[in-house]
Amino acid sequence: MSVSADFTSCTQCGTRIEEAHDMPIKARALCPTCGSTTRNFNVHIQEALTLGEKIFLKHKRPGHKKPIFEYVSGNDLHRNSGQWNHLTREIDRENDRYKELIINPKTGEVIRNVDEPLTEHTDRGSAKPKIEGPEGEA
Ligand SMILES: [Zn+2]
Repeated sequence: MSVSADFTSCTQCGTRIEEAHDMPIKARALCPTCGSTTRNFNVHIQEALTLGEKIFLKHKRPGHKKPIFEYVSGNDLHRNSGQWNHLTREIDRENDRYKELIINPKTGEVIRNVDEPLTEHTDRGSAKPKIEGPEGEA
């Protein structure tokens, strides 16, 4: 797990400000939009782990319950056919995007290609991405 600063923005109006996040307050320039010197430091926490053939990545931000960004990439067993496919899934809560791409690695055939607003995806009741584990149904 690593913690790193994303960007700095004005607390008052949200304008992004290019500025070292450890700059002394006195040295801060006024916000070009509203003249404030208060700043938000947007920090993200990144977790990456590899489980078997899959890579999981999560970006968390303090104050948000759910990760703002999740990414899964790796081999995924299609239960019905017993075929191993290559899966890439992105859940971008900041930009309200759900993407899922499943490809047959042998033929290059696209089995599933989803790119839709996350809110629409949620409405269908399968919001939570299933992480394939050893205890799945047969
Ligand atoms: Zn401002």
